[in-house]
Amino acid sequence: MESLERKAAVEHSGSGVGGLPQRPTRPVRVGTVWIGGGHPIVVQSMCATKTCDVEATARQANQLAQAGAGVVRIAVDNRRDVQALAEIRQKTDANLAVDLQENYRLAAEVAPWVQKIRYNPGHLHHQEPTRPWQDKVKWLAETAVQHDCALRVGVNCGSVDPVLKEKFPPEDALGPMLASALEHGELLDRLGFRRYCVSLKDSDPQRVIEANRRFAQQRPDVPLHLGVTEAGLPPEGIQKTRRALMPLLREGIGDTIRVSLTLPSEKKHLEVEAGLAILADLAAGRFDLPPEPTGRKLNIISCPSCSRVENDSFVLLAEKVRAMCEPFQDLPITIAVMGCRVNGPGETDSADLGLWCGPNRVNLKRGHHLLGAFSYEEILPRLREELDRLAAQYQT
Ligand code: SF4
Repeated sequence: MESLERKAAVEHSGSGVGGLPQRPTRPVRVGTVWIGGGHPIVVQSMCATKTCDVEATARQANQLAQAGAGVVRIAVDNRRDVQALAEIRQKTDANLAVDLQENYRLAAEVAPWVQKIRYNPGHLHHQEPTRPWQDKVKWLAETAVQHDCALRVGVNCGSVDPVLKEKFPPEDALGPMLASALEHGELLDRLGFRRYCVSLKDSDPQRVIEANRRFAQQRPDVPLHLGVTEAGLPPEGIQKTRRALMPLLREGIGDTIRVSLTLPSEKKHLEVEAGLAILADLAAGRFDLPPEPTGRKLNIISCPSCSRVENDSFVLLAEKVRAMCEPFQDLPITIAVMGCRVNGPGETDSADLGLWCGPNRVNLKRGHHLLGAFSYEEILPRLREELDRLAAQYQT
């Protein structure tokens, strides 16, 4: 297999992409690549196949690595996925990261097969709710050390630690995210574990910029993984990501990036190409940002899908929602389309209309309010009713 390191990053001399300034973060090794510490910026991606489908997942991991992903993430939720991961490991040389969400205890079983473990501070409370989160992080750090893994503290706007959320006013979306990232970083430092990076992801590019700037100011030493979560379908998803990542990278903030796009599985490598194109443009001094869409107020966010997606029609559904929304471009609203319950209920909370997929039905929400669960055939006409109702409201 070609050198992942060479393909995954833009060469530079330790002074940032294309000679731009780069923060002197600590270097974190993930298998054969380094994140931070003046190393080339690493492009990452994630498998969207079912993890328990060993052949399909190994094939996709190889496809992403060959496209230039320095780290390939895989979701693991249960023992069947763990078993599959052990087999996938034998079929790919890619540096693998595992994505733990609600089941943090699986870390001990997946760590022997991967180079990095991503945990989400907002999901630690689901398992063993009475055990303090500090104990859980200590155990995760010990597990990482034992198996030569790095960690990512992956904070996501749709699943922020509920305890921290209560400490901030509802309109302060960034406060709890930042507090969560900072407290986990402080704890890992106190534990003497330094091999970690942090991500603060939001679906709004401006909030991604703000959150990462603020974190970088307070923790200039910690490598940052940049991304816009649920950026959506291309080309809009690429444009949103560029609007967030290019200003940050230009300021020297960001050590690894992911462009999260809603794509059919066989086109997942386009995420990597989009990431490499951002780095190539910066290296060449092309800093132009995609213009904000004129006359378009409607915002559609959709998740990139992963092993957890509840129904294979998810990407098609997102495409149909976008097509249906064409006549409503002037509506100043956000519509969220999410593939499963992990981030679905949380992410749709802040949208005006939210859809999140179950195996056979799609949940439809208006803000926090659940309107019902509809079959994959019924959901579009039902969404259309809601759009018409909103359009009528805005016209009066
Ligand atoms: S919402 Fe669910 S399916 Fe979509 S990327 Fe997140 S975890 Fe995966």
